Amino acid sequence: MLQIDDLWAEVEGDEGPREILRGLSLTVKAGEVHAIMGPNGSGKSTLANVISGRDGYRVTKGRVLYKGQDLLAQEADERARNGIFLAFQYPVEIPGVNNMYFLRTALNAKRRHNGLPDLDAGAFLKLVRAQLKKLSLKDDLLQRPVNVGFSGGEKKRNEIFHMSILEPDMCLLDETDSGLDIDALKAVSDGVNALRSPDRAFVLITHYQRLLSHIQPDVVHVLSGGKIVRTGDASLAAELERDGYAFLNQDAA
Ligand code: ADP
Ligand code: MG
Ligand code: MG
Repeated sequence: MLQIDDLWAEVEGDEGPREILRGLSLTVKAGEVHAIMGPNGSGKSTLANVISGRDGYRVTKGRVLYKGQDLLAQEADERARNGIFLAFQYPVEIPGVNNMYFLRTALNAKRRHNGLPDLDAGAFLKLVRAQLKKLSLKDDLLQRPVNVGFSGGEKKRNEIFHMSILEPDMCLLDETDSGLDIDALKAVSDGVNALRSPDRAFVLITHYQRLLSHIQPDVVHVLSGGKIVRTGDASLAAELERDGYAFLNQDAA
C-alpha cells in the first residue's frame, strides 16, 4: 500500500526551510494498522502532511510509493481521489462551506474517478444519517459550515465521519485521540475498527497508549528526530506508556 524509502523533507518556516524528516523509511501493507508514537516535535505531523500532499513542505530526498506509484508526483487532490485520507491533528474550519455539501462533493469526485455515478441526494442522506448515528454526532452538524463552532471532540469525530463516508484505502489519523473524552474516544475507535479491512491500511499517530487499547495495532513505531528509531508489536506501546521516551536519550548518548 505505502512504501517510504529514506525520506528527507523540510518545512518552509518563516525563518527559512527547516529539515524535519531525516531518512524516514516505513512500509505499510494493505490490511495493516500501524501506530506511530514519539515525542512532541519529532516530525509525526510533518510525515502525515507530506504523505497527504499538504502545502508548505519540500521533499529533498527519498521516495514514496503508493499502490506502486510515485506518490510525490501527485497533487494533493489526486492523492485524495486515489484513496489517501488525512484526519488532521487540528481540523480546519471552512466558513461558508456546508459540511454535507463538502462531503458530498468529495465523495462524488472520488466516485467519478472510480467510474461510478454520483450518489443521488436521497441515497447520500441515508448513508450520512447512518454514519452520524454510529459516531453519536448530531444531525445539525451536517447543515453547518465545516467545523465552524464545533467543539474539539465534534471536530475530531467529524474527521472520522468524513473518513467513514469516503472509505479511503490509506487512512492517516494525526492525534485524533488527543483531547477526546472517553465516549468520544470510543466512538472514534469504533469508527476506525468498523473500517478495518484486508484492502485498507491505517497509520495512527498518537501520543497515548489508550487509543491502542481500543484499536489493536499490528505494528508500533517510534519516530524521533525525523526518523523511525524503533519498531515493535503492540507491546512496544505499553512499554512506552510505562517508561516514556527516556531510552531515546540513552541511545543518543
Ligand atoms: P509532531 O507532530 O511530532 O509533534 P511536527 O511534525 O508538527 O511534530 O513538527 C516537527 C518540527 O517541525 C517541530 O520542531 C516544529 O516546531 C517544526 N515545524 C512544523 N511546522 C513548522 C512550520 N510551519 N514552521 C517552522 N517549524 C515548523
Ligand atoms: Mg505534536
Ligand atoms: Mg503533530
